Amino acid sequence: MLKRLKTDFRLSIITILGASALLGITPFAFMRFFQGNYVAGFVDTTILLVVSGGMAYAWVTGDTRRSGMVLAVVACSGAVAVAAIVGEVGLFWLYPCLVTAFFLVSPRVATLLNVSSIAAMIVQGDAFKSDVQMWTFVATALVVSATAYAFALRSDNQRERLEHLATIDPLTGVKNRRSMDEELNEAAAHAERTGLPYALVILDIDHFKKVNDEFGHAAGDLILVDMVTLVQQNTRKYDQLFRFGGEEFVLLLPGVDGEGLLSVMNNLQHVLRKKMKHPGGAITASFGVALLKHGESVESWLERADAALYEAKEAGRDRVIFSDTMPACDSDQPSDKPELAT
Ligand code: GH3
Ligand code: MG
Ligand code: MG
Repeated sequence: MLKRLKTDFRLSIITILGASALLGITPFAFMRFFQGNYVAGFVDTTILLVVSGGMAYAWVTGDTRRSGMVLAVVACSGAVAVAAIVGEVGLFWLYPCLVTAFFLVSPRVATLLNVSSIAAMIVQGDAFKSDVQMWTFVATALVVSATAYAFALRSDNQRERLEHLATIDPLTGVKNRRSMDEELNEAAAHAERTGLPYALVILDIDHFKKVNDEFGHAAGDLILVDMVTLVQQNTRKYDQLFRFGGEEFVLLLPGVDGEGLLSVMNNLQHVLRKKMKHPGGAITASFGVALLKHGESVESWLERADAALYEAKEAGRDRVIFSDTMPACDSDQPSDKPELAT
């Protein structure tokens, strides 16, 4: 529970808002019923129910986006309703709502919500004792909103930057192994639901250590970048390339099997062999391919592709080995035919 609060920022804000609403509003709800102010008591109780319901929904489903939206709208309109019924105390409730809105919904929606709430306070007017008080409220509420907006925007940018650093390989710009694990699990779940075929390719540059040793690490780096560009240029935009580690890459190909997969692989092998160069000549790569089987785990899928790659290396490199039975086709590899792992 504590871990979820630490890792899910929006859930922690929903919980803080929910807990403060329960602690802060419950005594007022009782007091208002006790004083015979049933309308105010009813408004307080409704806010309490929606806020605690939203909080429970977020915890159970993990859908903090939807519950955040409901809570932000209910909290702001609740504060306006309280101001309309009991006067200026509603103004004080609006301030925390103006700030938390930026942590519950997007900065644009929060701005819209805040401006509408401030406008609603002015229009119903009952909360203010004088014009000076009203304009002071408008000025201070706008300052609070603008500050929260700037802060939310900055933390959004920082989150995006951190996400980029955590998921993208800095040398080649493709997703790293960490994001690969997530994407493969999603692909396996999607295949299970829809029956869409998914192919996984592990590709590894041949004799890359020698290139590094002979021409330096910087030349090796350039080859890695070139290879990524070539693979991306020769695959579809929804095929995904990940850096598996070192000079090994994983290519995830959704919706392709049989002849389609054979021709993609033959083309890739051909293009890399033809266009990848180091200062001393051509460079080749070896490929291990596995189609996801029904009900198979991601670990076993990767293992089969890796075993196929191992066989490609053992058989002499510069070739594509399929872990699955594939129809024959015109292959451009040295052995002329795509091979099957044994
Ligand atoms: P094989 O044909 O069996 O794959 O031989 P290999 O030499 O390519 O394979 P091995 O796995 O033995 O060596 C991989 C080399 O890749 C070792 C390491 O120096 C190099 N390497 C790993 N990451 C990088 C990188 O980011 N940049 C450069 N330039 N080299 C890297
Ligand atoms: Mg290698
Ligand atoms: Mg390797």
